Amino acid sequence: MTDRAKTILGSVFGYDEFRPLQREIIENVLKKRDSLVIMPTGGGKSLCYQIPALIFKGLTVVVSPLISLMKDQVEQLTELGVPAIFLNSSLSNEEYNRNVERLKENGVKLLYLAPEALLTPRMLSLLSSLRVDCLAIDEAHCISEWGHDFRPEYRQLVEVKSRFPSATCIALTATATPKVQEDIKCNLNFDASNEFIASFNRENLFIQITPKNNPASQTIEFLKKYPDQSGIIYCFSRRQVDDLYEILKGKGYSVRPYHAGLSDIERARNQELFIRDDVQIIVATIAFGMGINKPNVRFVIHFDLPKNIDTYYQEIGRAGRDGLRAHCLLLFGYADIQKIKYFINQKDDNEQRIANIHLNSLLQFTETEVCRRMPLLTYFGEDYTAEKCDMCDNCLAGERKLVDITVPAQKFLSCVKRTDEIFGANHMIDVLRGSQSQKVLKFGHENLSTHGIGKEYSRKQWFHLARQFIQKGLMEQDTKYGGLKLTGKAYDVFKGREFVLGILEEEHIEDRKGKGKEYDYDRVLFEKLRKKRKELADNAGIPPYVIFPDKTLIEMAAFFPRSEESLLRIHGVGSVKYKKYGAIFLDIIEQYYREHRK
Ligand code: ADP
Ligand code: ZN
Repeated sequence: MTDRAKTILGSVFGYDEFRPLQREIIENVLKKRDSLVIMPTGGGKSLCYQIPALIFKGLTVVVSPLISLMKDQVEQLTELGVPAIFLNSSLSNEEYNRNVERLKENGVKLLYLAPEALLTPRMLSLLSSLRVDCLAIDEAHCISEWGHDFRPEYRQLVEVKSRFPSATCIALTATATPKVQEDIKCNLNFDASNEFIASFNRENLFIQITPKNNPASQTIEFLKKYPDQSGIIYCFSRRQVDDLYEILKGKGYSVRPYHAGLSDIERARNQELFIRDDVQIIVATIAFGMGINKPNVRFVIHFDLPKNIDTYYQEIGRAGRDGLRAHCLLLFGYADIQKIKYFINQKDDNEQRIANIHLNSLLQFTETEVCRRMPLLTYFGEDYTAEKCDMCDNCLAGERKLVDITVPAQKFLSCVKRTDEIFGANHMIDVLRGSQSQKVLKFGHENLSTHGIGKEYSRKQWFHLARQFIQKGLMEQDTKYGGLKLTGKAYDVFKGREFVLGILEEEHIEDRKGKGKEYDYDRVLFEKLRKKRKELADNAGIPPYVIFPDKTLIEMAAFFPRSEESLLRIHGVGSVKYKKYGAIFLDIIEQYYREHRK
């Protein structure tokens, strides 16, 4: 049976190898044992029921909460030549009836349904006249009140399960908390089930955290590294989204906003433009991303601090689903912590306690000097033992040497003292670097003896130093207004009784180094292939990645396949796609080869 699965993986999907746990899960499903699958976003959950669906004689019913996700999956499967349909209110009567006919003729392998659609008597009676071999429950955390997206209809799925005793059940989610896992198993009545919990380590994500000083220009600097690439920028508030959107638009970027203040139509349109590669960048509040499956998101920027690690991980998880390198940048500002604390203080006692625990885990992650994956994966209950991942800023910064930072500490602390311990780090750094900003002049701070005594360090370096002064207990930040105050320990440093050892950040961290499974490929040919893909996609009314993912085009532009056999060896090219598009892409490659490789 697994041989069949492996063959299908290659011939239909065009992939060489299973991702971790896929093989084991598929075997379990084929043995008709219930399975609970916990895998991070982009881990490859869908294949775990799609391949068995192609092997089972009967039907696989997939329950999914979002119409956009269903549509996306059905489009992708149809392109692969897999008979898959969905039935929902977005279809015309005619289309709906045609799909029902196909079902009755046993012409369908996968049927996608929203839970409420599955639960209608009409649907249940239709299904009971068919052979159902598998019930796949996607986004299974919707079953649990402890999850972030509880949906009551999910609770009734257990009745559906009992109506089809010969069908096996597979529940899938990216939510890792044990409480939610327990709820899923309990609600679905899983007894002899098997659990498959994949590692949450997404090796292709480069993780970087940078002190936030001038976020808009930091963002623009970052974007220069990724011209014409797709990415998402997450902001805290709608207003921030609108502001940043205007700035980026003004700079000529291909960008759209996304937040709850826009009309449904506008939001859907902006999302669609992004998915179809017509727009490269989305600036969004956390509301963006649930329903998208776009594999070639090359970067995610957190313009503001996320609420907790769960949210953060889910959001960066939207990058690099195709397995290629993707860059995740978080701009870390102390003022953001104040904002989050402000919201926490509005909650009741118990909620405050939980929210503070979440915030502290997040801060442990942002402040760490060791590999970022360490606190992150520990949070998800994993035992991460590698010393270095080579895919985070800390690992690439090399050995951090502790140096004597007593002098900058004295400068900074005395500046805090002279400005009466009511200002934040931003203003301190302005004074130290000799700024003539309005705020400096307004308070007469250009006349202080500390004005301009810290020009030897960049703003970025000063921010990093200030963070260390707080960590080392030399000063504290007022939780309400963010002003910095000295502690008793600070006075020992003034008087030269205490030395301060710490890290002086280098000006530039080389963040393009490190692992990343990228090939050296021909960019001109890639662009030609990409243009053709876009043209085909627009004609067919589907997103470009449904035709081929970027990785396929990159491999084409690296290996120059010039025959059926060699094209079939390229990632993402199965037999059906070969028949549909093989000749078109081979032509372009052949022509390009002749022109350039004589
Ligand atoms: P999830 O639902 O877990 O977020 P998906 O099922 O959408 O992840 O898979 C993410 C991407 O990885 C998809 O583009 C999918 O086609 C691809 N993928 C899945 N399994 C494999 C594999 N074994 N080899 C290569 N690519 C894969
Ligand atoms: Zn690391």
